[in-house]
Amino acid sequence: MLDIIRKGVLRKGIVTSDYPQEGTPRYAARLGFPKLRTDLCKAHHVCFRSCPTNAIQEREGEIKVDLGLCIFCAQCARSCPEGAWTMSPEIELAKRSRSDLLSSSSIENKSIQELGKSLDAMIGKVFGRSLAIREVDTGSCNACEVEVNALSNAVHDIERFGMHIVASPRHADLLLVTGPVTRNMERALMQTYKATPEPKLVVAVGACACSGGIFRESYAVRGGVDRMLPVDVYIPGCPPRPEAMIYGLMLAVGKLNDKSR
Ligand code: SF4
Repeated sequence: MLDIIRKGVLRKGIVTSDYPQEGTPRYAARLGFPKLRTDLCKAHHVCFRSCPTNAIQEREGEIKVDLGLCIFCAQCARSCPEGAWTMSPEIELAKRSRSDLLSSSSIENKSIQELGKSLDAMIGKVFGRSLAIREVDTGSCNACEVEVNALSNAVHDIERFGMHIVASPRHADLLLVTGPVTRNMERALMQTYKATPEPKLVVAVGACACSGGIFRESYAVRGGVDRMLPVDVYIPGCPPRPEAMIYGLMLAVGKLNDKSR
């Protein structure tokens, strides 16, 4: 047994990811958000019909993807006869307003290195200690929870940034909400929000929390989290990767800094 521990665990070395210090990880083999090559697009609109959440929209003559609705399923890329859609591996997609999730072909964000550098100082300034996060599942399929759980594992280890998952909203600075807001969980969400002390933040995680996602037309669903509460940061994805959540949490800490001034 000791031999197994020595070989399998002790000799493994450090497994914790260098993100964000070493920049954005690229997941070439995995699906990210869809990007349109306008030079190849012949406007057949096949992609509009293939999208299960109607995330592809035409605004002022430009084709845009609503990342708050997109579930990154790649149906647009599979259906386009011109091969105009590609799935980008980028993960730093979180935004501070719902309207900013409506992207055209490229996404511009503040660099994660810039955010990472100021994070420790910001958390210290705002809380004088650390950021306490309470997760609220308002009806998710559980895939977002699997990724939220991964935030605390040895690879992603958000404790290294001074962020902790806590068991009660009374100890929380930030509510991390997953899933569409179902009618059954609406009251629980409002009570959790009321129980969280000021200043507080709300972060919507995943397409369902951002907009209601694939379930938004269900009789059992009220919609995205912003139908009930003010949302400070939206993290798109279905589910978003742990690094995408770390990026969104960093944006949120910056916003809390502005709120507490
Ligand atoms: S966003 Fe996707 S993974 Fe997350 S709860 Fe909704 S369907 Fe599940």
